[in-house]
Amino acid sequence: MTITSAATLIDGNALSRQLRSEVASRTAVLKQKGITPGLAVVLVGENPASQVYVRNKVKACQESGLHSVLEQHPASMTESALLALVDTLNNDPSIHGILVQLPLPAHIDAQKVIESISPTKDVDGFHVNSAGALMVGQPGFWPCTPYGCMKMLESIGFELKGKHAVVIGRSNIVGKPMALMLLQKNATVTICHSGTKDLKAMTLQADVIVAAVGKVNVLTADMVKPGAVVIDVGMNRNAEGKLCGDVDFAGVSQVASHITPVPGGVGPMTITMLLVNTLEAAERVAVGA
Ligand code: NAP
Repeated sequence: MTITSAATLIDGNALSRQLRSEVASRTAVLKQKGITPGLAVVLVGENPASQVYVRNKVKACQESGLHSVLEQHPASMTESALLALVDTLNNDPSIHGILVQLPLPAHIDAQKVIESISPTKDVDGFHVNSAGALMVGQPGFWPCTPYGCMKMLESIGFELKGKHAVVIGRSNIVGKPMALMLLQKNATVTICHSGTKDLKAMTLQADVIVAAVGKVNVLTADMVKPGAVVIDVGMNRNAEGKLCGDVDFAGVSQVASHITPVPGGVGPMTITMLLVNTLEAAERVAVGA
C-alpha cells in the first residue's frame, strides 16, 4: 500500500546532522583553548535497550569530537558504589556531563543518584535544580527529549505565541518539562494524562500536539485539527514488532501540516541535545561561569 502524506515531515535525522555539525565546530574552538567537552555515560545492569542507547550516545560523542567515557557495571552494583562513582565523576575535570542511564536496578534509588550528580554536570536535565531552573525560567540544562522537540518546532519556524499546545503525558523526563518549555514560549498549554476524561476533545483544540505516552495509536486522525503540528515522542513496537510512535502516522499525516516520523524523528534529536548540553557545560567551564 502506498501512503500519500499531506503533512510535511520534520526530519529529525537531517536536523540532527545540522546541529551536530555546529556542535563539532564549537567543540573544535574549545579544543583550541585546551578544553575537550567530556561526557560520562553510566550503565548499571544488562538491559538490552539501555545498552543500545548508551552505545549510540558514546558513538555520537566520538563523531562530534567530544570525549566520552562509558562506565559499565553489573546489576549487582550497590547504591553506595554508584554514588561513589558519581562523586568521582563530579570531581573529574575532564568530564563536563554525567548521564546515568535509566532505569536503574530496583535496589538503587534512582532519584537519590540523580540528585548526587553535580547540577553543573547534569546534562540530562533530571536534577531538581535543573527542573527548578526550567520552572522559574532561569538558565539550566533542559531535558534532552523535550528540548529536541522545541528545536524541531523552531526548525519549521512555528510561532508558539498564542497557540494552543496539548501535551499528552506528564512524566518528569518528557511531558512536564515539555509543557513548561511550550509555556515559556507563550503557548497556552494543556497537559493530558491517563486520567484525562475526553482526550479527543482536548487534542481537537490543539495547534500543536506532543504525544509522549508509550502506547501505539494514542493519537488518530479524527483527534487532530486540520493543519496542526504533531510531534511524536513515543517509542513502541507494533504488532509486527516494528518500531513505531504513539501516533497513527498514516492517518494523522493526512490531516496535520507537519509531523515527525518514528523512527527518524525525536529519537535522534534526543541524542543531539545531549551533545549540545555537554558542549554547553564545557563552554560554561571555559568562561568560568
Ligand atoms: P511514562 O513515564 O510512562 O509516562 C507516560 C505518560 O502517558 C503518563 O503521564 C501517563 O499518564 C500518560 N498516559 C498513559 N496512558 C494514557 C492515555 N491513554 N491517554 C493519555 N495519557 C496517557 O513515559 P515517558 O518516559 O514520558 O515516555 C513516553 C514515551 O516516549 C515512551 O514511548 C518512551 O519510550 C518514549 N520516549 C522517547 C524518547 C526519544 O528519545 N524518542 C525519549 C524518552 C521517552 P499518568 O501520569 O496518569 O500515568
